Amino acid sequence: MPDYGRLRAALAATDDDRIVFDLDGIEAQYDALLSELPGVDVRFAMKACPVDEVLACLAARGAGFDAAGPQEIAQALRTGVPVERVHYGNTVKSDRQIAEAYRLGVRDFATDSLADVAAIAEHAPGSRVFCRLATTGEGALWGLSRKFGCSPDEAVPLLAAARDAGLVPSGLSAHVGSQQLTAEAWQYALEMLAPLIMEADRLGIRLDHVNLGGGLPALGVLNRGGQPLHPPVDKMFAVIREGVQHLREVSAGPLDVLLEPGRHLVADHGAIRAHVTRLTERRQLSGERSHWLYLSCGKFNGLYEMDELRYPLEFPTHPGAPTVPAVIAGPSCDSDDAYADEGAGTPVPRDAASGDPVWILSCGAYVTSYTTRGFNGFPPLPYSCVRADPGVRPEESVRPEGTARPEESARPSEAARPENPSPTRRTRHTLAG
Ligand SMILES: *Cc1c(COP(=O)(O)O)cnc(C)c1O
Repeated sequence: MPDYGRLRAALAATDDDRIVFDLDGIEAQYDALLSELPGVDVRFAMKACPVDEVLACLAARGAGFDAAGPQEIAQALRTGVPVERVHYGNTVKSDRQIAEAYRLGVRDFATDSLADVAAIAEHAPGSRVFCRLATTGEGALWGLSRKFGCSPDEAVPLLAAARDAGLVPSGLSAHVGSQQLTAEAWQYALEMLAPLIMEADRLGIRLDHVNLGGGLPALGVLNRGGQPLHPPVDKMFAVIREGVQHLREVSAGPLDVLLEPGRHLVADHGAIRAHVTRLTERRQLSGERSHWLYLSCGKFNGLYEMDELRYPLEFPTHPGAPTVPAVIAGPSCDSDDAYADEGAGTPVPRDAASGDPVWILSCGAYVTSYTTRGFNGFPPLPYSCVRADPGVRPEESVRPEGTARPEESARPSEAARPENPSPTRRTRHTLAG
């Protein structure tokens, strides 16, 4: 189980609804990943947490970024990360998006089709391309299987076509699906890559890296029935270490290894302080009586994944209180805004009252990016970033001029843009002279 200590302290100090990110926890997670997989290059998948302060602390640690388009590339570059550590990891891109990425300095592109290779050759001439292989997505909560990646027999011909078009074929990638729960998924992916590296070598195509994508799981989330998932992360790391060693043995030259973790780095280090809207008891049409706990935030306020998993909930004002099993739901007028009706209900305090604080744990991944623009009028949650020692805030030194401090950010997406300085900050500039 993750260590929620710092987050609990920050949640306890908060008396309005907000998202809290523990930057020390994210850094420790990054360090732990590198100690399990020494020498890998991490390219954080930005969509999992496009929050300037989080990106800055990962960049300062040595991470690069997997960006999905020009907007994410621009946000990555605002951390000060060298552009060589940013790649365009989306196989879906328009001519204009490729040209804009090239203008921003990106020279590494994912691809999976001849049409995309031709477009990269035209709009980002001479760039490096890596070929994404399709995977089944088996074993993952979200498979990502059909939309991306070519079949193994197409990969090397595609890289050869890239070379013929003046590009530099540089690597292979595979993404085993998000919240992957089996080590075998990486084993199959690595077994698929080995013969392709050898085949490329035979054609004189020297691949210098493999990219094993994302998929490493969050540890603290529960399944749809409310049970812990217990992902076998130690086994996953062992399989990756072994598979990578084999790839290096079959490769003619040195082979770098990239990873694009998203949720694994941030999920367990972000939480929401929400509150109880109402605990009710109603007879359903089936005749069964059930409790429903409506919270102040749900599927449309960042908890988009609540139909596939459950987050651990804590009720700090009801320690050890008697509970009733309840269905958890958000505040909107949409019936999808609820935990799946599977397994037993979630135990909630019998006396939970409107306004009581609720802590939603392990929801740091995708929480800001899946927030709607005020569905049913419920506004996006503000966020703050915390550290154990408030005197040490290295992220401040890299915050771009004109952007808001976290505690001033009513809306992360707006606060992140230098062209939208917060009113508070503007006042300060005025006062300063
Ligand atoms: C979303 C994404 C990731 C991150 O996925 P997680 O399951 O959050 O680790 C990595 N790579 C690519 C290309 C992605 O689209």
